Order: sequence, then C-alpha cells, then structure tokens
Amino acid sequence: MKIDQFPKEIRPYVVPEPTGKMLYRCLGCSAQMSIDRLLYTCPRCGSVLMLYDEHFDRITELGGDKWRTIFDYRRMLNLQPLKGIFRYYEFIAPVIPLDQIVYLGEGHTPLVEANDRLKEMIGLDFYFKNDGLNPSASFKDRGMACALSYINHFAKREKIGNLLAICASTGDTSASAALYGSYLEDFVSSAVLLPHGKVTPQQLSQPLGSGAKVLEIPGVFDDCMKVVENLAENYHVALLNSKNSWRILGQESFSYEIAQDFDYEVGNKAVVLPIGNAGNITAVMNGFLKFYKAGVIHELPKIVGVQSEHADPVYRYYLEGDEDKRVFKALTVKPSVAQAAMIGNPVSMPRVIELVREYNRLSGGKRVFVVHVSEQEIMDAMIVANRNGNIACTQGGESMAGLRRAVQAGHVHQSEVGVLDSTAHMLKFISFQEMYFQDSFDPEFKVKPKQELRNAPVLIKPRSLKKFPQPGKPLEGEEMRLFIQETVAEIEKILGLEKK
Ligand SMILES: *Cc1c(COP(=O)(O)O)cnc(C)c1O
Ligand SMILES: [Zn+2]
Repeated sequence: MKIDQFPKEIRPYVVPEPTGKMLYRCLGCSAQMSIDRLLYTCPRCGSVLMLYDEHFDRITELGGDKWRTIFDYRRMLNLQPLKGIFRYYEFIAPVIPLDQIVYLGEGHTPLVEANDRLKEMIGLDFYFKNDGLNPSASFKDRGMACALSYINHFAKREKIGNLLAICASTGDTSASAALYGSYLEDFVSSAVLLPHGKVTPQQLSQPLGSGAKVLEIPGVFDDCMKVVENLAENYHVALLNSKNSWRILGQESFSYEIAQDFDYEVGNKAVVLPIGNAGNITAVMNGFLKFYKAGVIHELPKIVGVQSEHADPVYRYYLEGDEDKRVFKALTVKPSVAQAAMIGNPVSMPRVIELVREYNRLSGGKRVFVVHVSEQEIMDAMIVANRNGNIACTQGGESMAGLRRAVQAGHVHQSEVGVLDSTAHMLKFISFQEMYFQDSFDPEFKVKPKQELRNAPVLIKPRSLKKFPQPGKPLEGEEMRLFIQETVAEIEKILGLEKK
C-alpha cells in the first residue's frame, strides 16, 4: 500500500524518524553511558549493559491503541527498511536513519499451530514460531540485523572505513554475524571463533561461505567467549556476541511479533524458549515488558525457559525459592544435543535476574519459570515434532519437551496456549537426527532411539536384474521394461500396494 492510501490520521506515524535518545545503562552500578562509543561492558565495574531510550515516555504517551493501529498499518507498507524487525522501529532502536538499516529478510517468521496429535501429546494447544526460517536459519538474525544496522550507522557517522567484527559462537551466532557482515562488504570484515568439533558441519559451512575468517579453538563455547572478551577489551574490534546490547534490542522483535500475531492478546499464552547464553530470554522478557509499559498489550504472557540437564545453570539458580538465598554458580557443561545452548556460564545472567524480578513484579505473581529436560526428551521431541509437519532443530525440540515438563509441573495450565520458539532450522542440526536414526550417540548423551521413530532409506535393487540404469547409460527396450517391472514389483511388496 502506498503512503497516500493510508487514513490521514495514521500517515504521519507510518514512516518513523530517528527521535529516540538511547543510552547504555550498567546493570551492576547503574552508570549511564553515551552510545557514541561501541561498548559491551561497563568501563567502571565490568558488568553487562542494557540499552534504554530516554524518550520512552514519548512512546507511552501515544497510547496502546495508537501503536496497535500503527503496527497493523505498517504491516501493509512496502518500504524495505521496515519490512523486517524494524516494523517496531520505535521500540527497537529509534536512532538509526531508515536508509542505514540493514534488511536481509529477517523476522515475521510464521506461527504454525501444532496438529491435534501433538496437542494431545503435550496436553494443551500450542504453536511453533519457526525462527529457523530467518535468512541464516536461526533467530540470531533478529539481533544481528539490529547490531549491524547500528554499526552501519556508527561507521558512517564516525567515517570509519574499516571495521573487524568478531564473535564467539556455538554455531548460529557466527553464521548470522558473517552473513550480515558480508552484506556491508565495503567496510566490515568478520572473524568468528568456534569450539573445534562443537558446531555442526552445516553451521561451519555458513561463515566459510560468507567469506569470514573462521578460527577454531579447543574447548567449549565458554572458552571461546573468554578469548573473544579479551580481544574485545584490548583491540579495535566490534563484538557481536549478545553482550552487545544492540543484539538484544533486535531480538525483542520476537515478542512484538507474537503480540501482533495474536491481535495483542497474550495474557493466556506461555512463551517457551531454550536458554544458552540467556540473551534470547532477556530479549523476549524485555520485549513483552516494553509493550506492556506502553499499553500495547494489557497482560504479560508466561515465560518458560528450558535447559538441558547437561547445561542447566539457570535452572539450578531458580531451584532456590528464596530470592535472597539464590547464588549463581557457573557449571562445566556435558555434551548436549542442544549444542547451541550448551553453555555453563551465561553472559546475560545479570540481565535475566533483573528482568525476571521486574516481570514477576509487574505481573503481580510468578510468571517466569525455568525447567530442565533430558537429552532423550529433547531428541524424542525434535523427531516427533518433525514427524508432525514441523521443522524443529534440537533446541526447538527442547522447547517442546520443556512445554510438556512445564505442564506436568503445573507451571502452565491446559486452558493456556503455548508458543514455542523453534530457534533454528532442523537442517542445521541434522547430524543429531542421523545419530538418532543410526543409534550412534556417544554414551555421554545417554540417548537411545525409540524404535518406532527411527527411519532409514531402502535401496531397491531387484536381484533378478542384471542391468541397472547408470548416469549417462540409460537402459533401453526390453531391459528398461524389465527394470520397471521388477522395481515396481518390489515396491508393491514393501508398501503393501493394492492393484487398481
Ligand atoms: C543461540 C541459540 C540458542 C540459545 O540462545 P541464547 O540467547 O544463547 O540463550 C538456542 N537455540 C539456537 C538454535 C541458538 O542458535
Ligand atoms: Zn557498572
């Protein structure tokens, strides 16, 4: 729809201008810092930061009704920079000029209702939000679109001609960072640090294909993170891990989309997502909180965070019911099929602690829950989800297994509706499906495939035949007729076909 076709009263709001005033705020010492520098941690106390819009009042003043109308009309607007996460421009980063926004097709991923069989199995109605349908096939693109848009703006403003972007990754961050970095080829180059052997071949191929420098390091993600932090502290590089608060802002779009797709009625929803470095749960809580404070939604949904028993520091932290007695302890992780969330020392833990408190306080009761699930449950859930029309990765399976646990534990009720973050595309984690089908898991995972869920290709090569077609050497005449006849006969037996 063209701008002059919109109702008069909405026209001035549809195409936004950069009128926000954003600041970093330290979660440790509350210091506020200007965004004129790229900061990842507080220069005074070393804590993590969050970004705030000092002019957020301007947003609240407009009122929820107006915002809902703006977003619903903006949905019909054909303007590239507002096609993705920046449909919610004012709630994300209202300091970036529209012509500096990087849009690669991220966001607005489909919400797919689970079929009846899955609903019955889990015990309530639920949806998958397929974030594997983002450009690099994971939700990380939401955050990268925002971080790289800001870097683009920053570099243009400061006339920086050359910038090295780096990140540590369990696979998906590097795929996303390298993709968005490669789009800004005239001044951004990328380097990614991966734990050697701890990312899937598909994930490894992504930054290689985007032309990034790929560095593999012994150990696990937590080790890579320490190296990258040292680099970011001591050298001129831009850090693209979720320590970078611009990424959190972009990932808040996940919540805004859920709100809009349910016509802003989310009070009876339970949003379920895996926790690794805890950037995503931070963003999802903060997104709903901002919409709530601005009156765009009137109730906050429940939030259920899920961890594997092999990497569950956040779950353990919240096991202690008494807030004052909780102590966070980093863990040494064990191998997990939810490899993208295999993190023992989540960088965003201080953000989670602050936001969970605020979320529960504003909801007037406990609305955030953390559960853990076994490796077996994760794998079974991934396979079952995908046998029922979905494209869940292991972490998506973790979400589904977590929803079931949350229902069993009474955190989520039958009358509520689940919304699962299906965080990446199944194909990125297909090696775990392969291990399941071939029963070849390392004993550490303790995963035994369920016989009825296994699958394998069947080679049809009738013994009665001497000749088979080969590339460049087709069969002809009687040989071809025989080949078809015998092959069909064998397929008839295998599939139990009945003749017409
Ligand atoms: C990064 C990632 C996670 C974990 O998200 P955090 O923000 O690190 O908690 C889960 N699933 C997938 C597919 C991921 O790539
Ligand atoms: Zn500080």
